[in-house]
Amino acid sequence: MTIATGIIRSGPEVSLAPPPPIPLLDLKAQYLGLRDEISQALHEVASSSTYVLGPRVQEFEKAFAAHVGARHCIGVNSGTSALHLALIATGVGPGDEVITVPMTFIATTWAISYVGATPVMVDVDPLTYTMDVAQVEAKITSRTRAILPVHLYGQPAALGPLLEIGNRLGIPVIEDAAQAHGARYRGRGAGTLGRTGCFSFYPGKNLGAYGEAGAIVTHDDRIAARLRSLRDHAQSQRYHHDEIGFNYRMDAFQGAILGIKLRYLEAWTEARRRLAAAYLERLADLPLQLPTEARDLRHVWHLFVVLHPERDRLRDALETRGIGTGLHYPVPVHLQKAFAHLGYRDGDFPVSERIARECMTLPLFPEMTESQQDRVVDALREVLREGRR
Ligand SMILES: *Cc1c(COP(=O)(O)O)cnc(C)c1O
Repeated sequence: MTIATGIIRSGPEVSLAPPPPIPLLDLKAQYLGLRDEISQALHEVASSSTYVLGPRVQEFEKAFAAHVGARHCIGVNSGTSALHLALIATGVGPGDEVITVPMTFIATTWAISYVGATPVMVDVDPLTYTMDVAQVEAKITSRTRAILPVHLYGQPAALGPLLEIGNRLGIPVIEDAAQAHGARYRGRGAGTLGRTGCFSFYPGKNLGAYGEAGAIVTHDDRIAARLRSLRDHAQSQRYHHDEIGFNYRMDAFQGAILGIKLRYLEAWTEARRRLAAAYLERLADLPLQLPTEARDLRHVWHLFVVLHPERDRLRDALETRGIGTGLHYPVPVHLQKAFAHLGYRDGDFPVSERIARECMTLPLFPEMTESQQDRVVDALREVLREGRR
């Protein structure tokens, strides 16, 4: 019997194809595990004729609120929209100031600009990479209307001290929890400690839709009612619009998909935590700055980011070995052209600037196998050794 393998054998030497590349993130692997459930749900929505909001979105909102421990969840069409509406519902408007960080995804700051307010930056902490609480009070003025910390890479910001400042000065905290689904701060769900918490369900997030989606959570009944109205053209009853509204509704396909995926979020988060712990242990002896998990909280490892001064060389060398890496984020917000009018300069936020120069995100996703992680660790060890020659 002859077997056509496509592999050319010459003598004892066997030329094998190189192992498949390891992506930064593998959404296909997750989909394959859920295919039947998802297909059924999509067919149900398609035949229901309700394609925007509706029962699947409502069910997801209820389940997500329960999951994070909030009274209300309002589904919207993106994390950016969630932040925008949260700021409006908090009463932030033209001429106001909102304190936030330059080391984040740009959308945090977009939302502040959308309401006509000014982003006021404070640097991040050099170990946790979240808002440096010690710098906040010096930036508060009579115009400060909100503090908007970001739970960067899946680690909640120092919400205890931030809420203490906010409560003392009467300034609400709005949480950007777009990277922190299921994270906890002193036992409470990220997104539920501030007045509102904003989530993104962009496909690559820890809980990802198959398109755009987001949500706001809050304990406040009045804010929840206003958010429900604002996302849907501010209609209190059909054809009656109470204020300037938006079309920021979540669509039913995304609600159905998110409802299914939410049931797996805990297991996926535990897998992420195991992979992160293994990285931390196995990379400990290498000349890299590793991420840290602060005490009293639960990091959900949306991204596993290491710092090294020769980041670009390492990335290229890993790429050659079939290992995908990412950059989160190579240009801090205060140095973006779009925010040049804020008047910040290179050197203003040295911690964020260092992260921007040195950051490299390693592959980490719940379906990652042990042998994939072995390959990443071995490759990283090798490319760091090469650099020392
Ligand atoms: C993804 C993300 C957003 C924006 O969410 P979208 O759903 O992409 O609009 C906002 N803030 C942070 C920190 C994010 O990571």
